[in-house]
Amino acid sequence: MTKTFDFLDFNAIAELSLAGELIDRATAKSILEAPDIVLLEQLAAAYKVRHHYWSNHVRLHFLLNAQSGLCPEDCNYCSQSKISSAEIEKYPLIAQEKIVAAADRAAKLKAGTFCMAISGRSPSESVFSSVLEAFETVKAKHDLKICACLGLLNQEQTRRLAEVGVDRVNHNLNTAENHHENICTTHTFRDRVTTIKNVQQAGITTCSGGILGMNETDDDIIDLAYSLRELDVTSVPINFLIPIAGTPLADVNQLNPRRCLRILCLFRFILPKQEIRIAGGREVHLRSLQAMGLYPANSIFIGDYLTTAGQSANADLDMIRDAGFVLENPDGSILETENTTVLKVESK
Ligand code: SF4
Repeated sequence: MTKTFDFLDFNAIAELSLAGELIDRATAKSILEAPDIVLLEQLAAAYKVRHHYWSNHVRLHFLLNAQSGLCPEDCNYCSQSKISSAEIEKYPLIAQEKIVAAADRAAKLKAGTFCMAISGRSPSESVFSSVLEAFETVKAKHDLKICACLGLLNQEQTRRLAEVGVDRVNHNLNTAENHHENICTTHTFRDRVTTIKNVQQAGITTCSGGILGMNETDDDIIDLAYSLRELDVTSVPINFLIPIAGTPLADVNQLNPRRCLRILCLFRFILPKQEIRIAGGREVHLRSLQAMGLYPANSIFIGDYLTTAGQSANADLDMIRDAGFVLENPDGSILETENTTVLKVESK
């Protein structure tokens, strides 16, 4: 007997999203629960929305972890936390020359944005001052956008970041408010929201997203997307948990490539205009379907993540070109496809 599916009308959802309407919870749940047989239909509808705002362009971000480990917080997913026994490289803030050298590499890779993260709850004054100096040097040397990921920030700190020309601050909500205490007890979801508001008040754009696959429910995923929409963040990194040995979430494995694609589609429908970036876990969880992630998402990191390695830059550039997407130059213009090979860089 043939089973008849009462499939969702993904095109109608795309139209709703393009009209600026918020999709309701029941529809959002259906997107996450949709069967594999309609996955391509779902991706095509999400691409309709993505294409409207971002055409077939892909933005590249380059990430530097400028201070690693030694963090007093207890984020369960993080190899740098005080409760992690993961074997990672730990170091205090690296020298300015090394930060500038990383920015040089970002520029060479044509990454539009140089993202610099430091571990820790919130930067000390001496670390913060050094970071500001480094950002000034990078700004003077390169036409790169700078995105700073520095932990919790007060209004004075965000004002000073704005003064040196920082373009964006990353501070992820990570998960739904309801689920936050299950993954971190040393700071609250509200602390994170306050930092995002401080950033916005300073006139800096915000990058905020989440980490999926941390034992959250579908309702939590939907809540996270709704919260990001309500906060009107500009850029949304979607990380897929890389379970790291030595962290409390080491044995959690809830994801598969199709599930990741459905999550990306959901975020695109709820956050139609935002820059959606496939961040950490892209290679591990999307695996052979990575290129399909570019139908809902319009941005990726090129290079490594905070404490885990990404695939080679060459493989990323080939993937983008092979799937018919084009790179954006740092100024937002298109880098012609035939020039892509010029970007080929040594493999890591
Ligand atoms: S995510 Fe940030 S604040 Fe949390 S433990 Fe890791 S470095 Fe510390």
